[in-house]
Amino acid sequence: MAEVLVLVDHVDGKVRKTTSELLTIARRLGEPSAVFIGEGFDSAKETLAKFGAAKVYRVESADVLSHLVAPQAEVLAQLVGSASPAAVLIPSNVEGKEIAARLAIKTESGLITDAVDVKPGAGGGVATTQSVFAGSYTVDATVTKGTPIITVKPNSAAPEEAPAAAADEVVDFAPSDAAKGARITESKEKQATGRPELTEAAIVVSGGRGTGGDFSPVEALADSLGAAVGASRAAVDAGWYPHTSQVGQTGKQVSPQLYVACGISGAIQHRAGMQTSKTIVAVNKDNEAPIFELVDFGVVGDLFQVLPQATEAVKAA
Ligand code: FAD
Repeated sequence: MAEVLVLVDHVDGKVRKTTSELLTIARRLGEPSAVFIGEGFDSAKETLAKFGAAKVYRVESADVLSHLVAPQAEVLAQLVGSASPAAVLIPSNVEGKEIAARLAIKTESGLITDAVDVKPGAGGGVATTQSVFAGSYTVDATVTKGTPIITVKPNSAAPEEAPAAAADEVVDFAPSDAAKGARITESKEKQATGRPELTEAAIVVSGGRGTGGDFSPVEALADSLGAAVGASRAAVDAGWYPHTSQVGQTGKQVSPQLYVACGISGAIQHRAGMQTSKTIVAVNKDNEAPIFELVDFGVVGDLFQVLPQATEAVKAA
């Protein structure tokens, strides 16, 4: 059975949920081989084995860790050359998309970004459904040249366990001088909130200008649901919430099971980041707010009254 390479998304060995999703998808296409770059393999191994990685290619070279994405693309290109995989699956985040683009060029392969579904093609190859134009359309697409390089959006598959060996193989790799052209000089740890990461959370509760800068009811509802907190650009630009929490065209694209927009009007640029969410709920005091055009459930009301009641109801449930 052909190998399917999955680039592991992790922080110091703590494997993100997207990786379990990608391993689940990889099993539809062949035998998953995880590519683990960085430190903390011992912590990661259990999760990789649990979700079906038969093999794990490990790269721990300091040269890879201390540079930006270029060496990671070179590692994958080397593995594409040696393993001839049926496909390479990469998380569809900012870093993943850059790695995928560089890899596609290096291997002269076709690239599909923002896939929301990946399965074996009818006549061989790999069939994907791709979210395009910021989630406005989906198209079916397939790679016709080289090795299919596919970035997959978070929450595109429910992770399914399938225990495997996760036998590790250390990769002998040294990045080229060109890949070492930019070096990380300092990295600052993000303040831990205890909440899930925005792009991989199953539930996101976002606040906008309607919060007036008071995100406490948004955060309380998010915490009662175990959700991540997002924000509109208006809220971010006002300095009420960090830029890293912005949802939208120029922020992060999220696709959770449930998205709750609180005091957000629903501008096209905000929709671009959340309209592929499975269920959308909005709380807005203006019943003509455009956000109500795309919701599954809408509550016309003052978020400072509605959200505390919702939070209490969730806690009581
Ligand atoms: P508003 O549009 O001002 O809406 C506030 C809403 O809150 C209103 O509907 C109001 O009825 C409601 N409200 C007020 N008080 C309450 C209350 N007490 N209870 C309940 N509801 C209340 N925006 C993004 O979000 N993400 C992006 O990535 C992004 N990228 C952009 C890129 C470009 C190039 C441009 C030009 C714009 C971009 N924008 C983006 C900005 C976007 O156009 C909107 O200005 C922004 O989304 C508005 O944010 P908002 O909905 O919070 O504010």
